[in-house]
Amino acid sequence: MNPQYLPQQPQQQYGASAGQRFGPPPNAFPPMPHGGARPSPSGTPGGFQLSSGPPAPMGMHPVGLPGPQRMGPSVQGPQPFNSDLPPPSGPVSLGPGMSGAPTSGSHHPGFSGLNMMNGPAGPPSGPPGGPGSQPPPHTMPQQAPVMVPPPTSTPNQLATQLSGMNLSGQAPPPPSIQNSNYPVGPPTKPGLASVPPGAPGANYYHSPGSFPPAINGGPPPPTSSPGQPLQPPGQQQHGAPSRYMNGSMGPPPASGRGPMVGPPQPHMPTQHGIIPPQPGNMSAAHAHMPPPTGMPPSVGGMPQSGAMPPQHGGSSFQPFMQPGPPTGKLYHPSPDMYQPNAGAPPQMQQPSMGVQGPTPNYPPLHQPVGPQQTAHQGMQSQPARRLNPNDMPSPIQVMQDDQSNRSGVFCTNQKGLVPPLVTTNFITQDQGNASPRYIRSSMYNVPATIDIMKQAALPFGIIVSPLARTVGEEYVLPIVNMGEIGPVRCNRCKAYMCPYMQFIDGGRRFHCLFCKATTEVPAEYFQHLDHTGQRVDRFERPELILGSYEFVATKDYCRDNTFPKPPALIFLIDVSYNNIKNGMVRLLCSQMKEILKLLPKDEGAEKSNMRVGFITYNNTVHFYNVKGCLAQPQMMVVGDVQDMFMPLLEGFLCDPMESETVIDSLMEQIPAMFADTRETETILAPAIQAGLEALKASECAGKLLVFHSSLPIAEAPGKLSNRDDRKILGTEKEKAVLTPQVNVYNNLGQECVSAGCSVDLFVFNNSYFDLATIGQVSRLSGGEIYKYTYFQADLDGERLITDIKHDVIRPVAFDAVMRVRTSTGVRATDFYGHFFMSNTKDMELASIDCDKALAIEIKHDDKLTDEDGVYIQVALLYTSCGGQRRIRIINLSLKTCTEMADLYRNCELDTLINFFSKQAVFQLLESSPKAVKENLIKRCAQILATYRKYCSSPSSAGQLILPECMKLLPLYMNNILKSDAISGGSDMTIDDRSFIMQAVTIMDIPSSVVFFYPRLVPLHEIDVDSTELPTAIRCTSEKIRDDGVYLLENGIHMFLWIGLNAGMEWVQNVFGVLSAAQVNIERTSLPELDNPLSVRIRSVIDSIRQQRHRCMRLTLVRQRDKLEMVFKHFLIEDRGLDGSASYVDFLCHMHKEIRNLLS
Ligand SMILES: [Zn+2]
Repeated sequence: MNPQYLPQQPQQQYGASAGQRFGPPPNAFPPMPHGGARPSPSGTPGGFQLSSGPPAPMGMHPVGLPGPQRMGPSVQGPQPFNSDLPPPSGPVSLGPGMSGAPTSGSHHPGFSGLNMMNGPAGPPSGPPGGPGSQPPPHTMPQQAPVMVPPPTSTPNQLATQLSGMNLSGQAPPPPSIQNSNYPVGPPTKPGLASVPPGAPGANYYHSPGSFPPAINGGPPPPTSSPGQPLQPPGQQQHGAPSRYMNGSMGPPPASGRGPMVGPPQPHMPTQHGIIPPQPGNMSAAHAHMPPPTGMPPSVGGMPQSGAMPPQHGGSSFQPFMQPGPPTGKLYHPSPDMYQPNAGAPPQMQQPSMGVQGPTPNYPPLHQPVGPQQTAHQGMQSQPARRLNPNDMPSPIQVMQDDQSNRSGVFCTNQKGLVPPLVTTNFITQDQGNASPRYIRSSMYNVPATIDIMKQAALPFGIIVSPLARTVGEEYVLPIVNMGEIGPVRCNRCKAYMCPYMQFIDGGRRFHCLFCKATTEVPAEYFQHLDHTGQRVDRFERPELILGSYEFVATKDYCRDNTFPKPPALIFLIDVSYNNIKNGMVRLLCSQMKEILKLLPKDEGAEKSNMRVGFITYNNTVHFYNVKGCLAQPQMMVVGDVQDMFMPLLEGFLCDPMESETVIDSLMEQIPAMFADTRETETILAPAIQAGLEALKASECAGKLLVFHSSLPIAEAPGKLSNRDDRKILGTEKEKAVLTPQVNVYNNLGQECVSAGCSVDLFVFNNSYFDLATIGQVSRLSGGEIYKYTYFQADLDGERLITDIKHDVIRPVAFDAVMRVRTSTGVRATDFYGHFFMSNTKDMELASIDCDKALAIEIKHDDKLTDEDGVYIQVALLYTSCGGQRRIRIINLSLKTCTEMADLYRNCELDTLINFFSKQAVFQLLESSPKAVKENLIKRCAQILATYRKYCSSPSSAGQLILPECMKLLPLYMNNILKSDAISGGSDMTIDDRSFIMQAVTIMDIPSSVVFFYPRLVPLHEIDVDSTELPTAIRCTSEKIRDDGVYLLENGIHMFLWIGLNAGMEWVQNVFGVLSAAQVNIERTSLPELDNPLSVRIRSVIDSIRQQRHRCMRLTLVRQRDKLEMVFKHFLIEDRGLDGSASYVDFLCHMHKEIRNLLS
């Protein structure tokens, strides 16, 4: 490990003297792997000395010093307000506007004075120091075109001959992209190999005698052929270390590619009666299991230890890395491929979990109907067969292949390089493009023309998780302190200094690749160029060679041109009857001490600078003074909820360490104080307003954690009426209950975001609480919603506390503004996620944390004239939890293409699915569900039809051919359509539906992958000695055995399904009872038994929980019990109990749609 990275040297200044490098040798920044903290280059060799402005010692920040002096310089002296807390009879109104503590009457003199205080003294709203605007482009000489390594493609396709389902096992003829019919593009690049007939690895459904040329869907791996640079010239300026390139960028070994799906398969399946329904049917009924009582869509995720990233990578590094997605895998036709249940364990034939439910919208494939009869008859000589789901493209297989081929180091030195899947264990080595944990694109080759975009129907979307955790040895972003001059930016488009700026004129000016403008280099930033035309100091400067880094912001980027105070966390606790009765208040208070120990701190800081405050409410609002010098906390009640204000200027926000004893005392008193409450009517908006006013009065940003119980029906602003009418879910009228009934919470949300106040809602409901309305405040303020229906402290308490701790400790940014800049020709146009926009460009986020992602659609303004690519720069201006104002920069460069095949070879399906799901959720609130679903289906068909038309042979009209990168598109698209977020019907509650829609809106890609394809893990044959998670199996009842035990999770729910014939010994070891029938399925955790199997199973559950950011409740499901319906609902490849399409159904339907489009 390079000692320069050791956190023990926090004061070290990097780059402060000429020649000093802040990292390893120039050819190895950042060192990979390395541990320890990231460097903080704050100066520059060759003239620029850090002469002013706060130094940037590693992880320490010039503002936000801990300690009492941070506690509110603007606060007045102590209030004459010394009454003890009231007796436990609840607050009593003292009169209009204010009320004192109940019964004690000890409220008091300071009272009238308090009334005179002005409430909000908040900072002005509006995006502070906003990133500049994007000017019209003007042209400059283009950069040299990027050399593309010739792909060593092998065909990869799934061809399904549905007319008769003639699925046989012959290998396809040599496909050639050069056959492309696509009229626009230039000649296909040489090197796109055609694949010889019978190429190994072919694996697809097709009809004998009509083999399409299989087009390789995967991007080409780079080759090391002479004269072919391993790295695009445009990227070389990033100083990609050749050592790493040589080490990691070599062509993948041939052995890295094996057959992917299914064994060879010569037989023709009997596929009869394929009559897919019309698209409209797709969106028809979507049945739901009755909402499982006690199965709130709740959340998972154990707290990470500290704010450090999970350290689970690095164990499976490979000595090389394959620089492209797996390529060239054909579907091997297999002799037994279409045998019924072929390849499945014998138990599969047990009917216990077989296909069930009503007739699906799509007729079963093996049902002879109509025109397909002929084909069926044609195959009568063969045994009856059906399309075996085992042979359809499998996400499990795709993930395993990617893990095999692309785990290890992912080096970002290539423009347009498709990253490994999110499920793959990889370590990013940033060499000029940001880590795919921060940003992923749906396409890495962007079509040059709008025409191609239209035909392909693929959205150009990016998913940004700007606060994503790093993994393993990935470096924490370096912080660049430019002193008073602040970050160097393009004069015209205001893009920040990055590897895409080209220095010219001896280093005196730089050329911006975003807008093509040229900007003078500030004198302080000047540096000479070397013989290659690059700055000699580039290896000391993260912003010149890295894809992501941070700048320390100057006052220009702060509200009121004043550096911010550290953010605060305010707990708002609903103390009405429900929350007292269910034990939530007592539990929360008892755990507060532990929770407060987890307040986040800046990298390298000794302690958290964040302050905390406490408010309780029912139909009045109660503030607490917890100033450290007090013997007892003090309560101040505001009874006039119509016009909320902040009665306490001092002592409300405090350092939790300094006020530890007072807070302890308060946490003991709150449960007692309200123990006998009979208050069932509660408010909400005024309480949130109170928290907001408290932050404004303290002139800081922050977050409210609101612990709320029920529909706010007390007479107050934000009072809501009960409009619970779940019958209309799933119908064209569902918008009526999925959109807000009043604007109060939207307005409040906007007020919050403009003050940098984020709102997380923890809801403990026993009935309808109108999440669609109150959730707006969280949506607009970058917050999150947690829901614990029928909460019981003894059963759900651990889950709640886990969630709170995770919420508090995770990496978070406050008071943020995010802007996406792009190179000319394309532009960010549509934005999805939890934020607010007051203009068309800036996403305002009162907070954003590591678990949230934003989706942005980028559209073409015009034909891309550049041959050098598409450049994207995401800038997130924010206040760190320590109170430092920073700008996080995330850069990504993509290629442009003129060939349809290049587009399809360089897509990222997981990103696409995340994008589509977020977009669909938004559209549901504006359009009709039918239209939204039809649009998705249409789009899916269009994407595949275009591929079929331009990227495969014209002679194979009857086959379904899927691009390798997107062979799972039909599966995932169907899963979106079937998901509760899109299709949740009247069997779920309206709040559950709203909850899941909001969850999808904020999901990052790892979350959406498992949400739309749940993980199913067999536990009955688990290796007790291993520490790895068991391999997942396909999510279908076909894989379920009734002597098995399975864990299923999707990031929201977690089920443990127990077969009635599960092994006695297994059941005894894990549950401590003699048979599956005796298992108490009411329990939400496994008993802690002292045997290796019990330990192992509980450890598997814990590990899976830790991978998710919400702590999932464990629901036990015994075979044939009532809850099994719920479990089956998540077996996503199967036909839904409501008749929603199975994977097979949908694939067949897609095929028909594609043929319609092509005919
Ligand atoms: Zn520019």
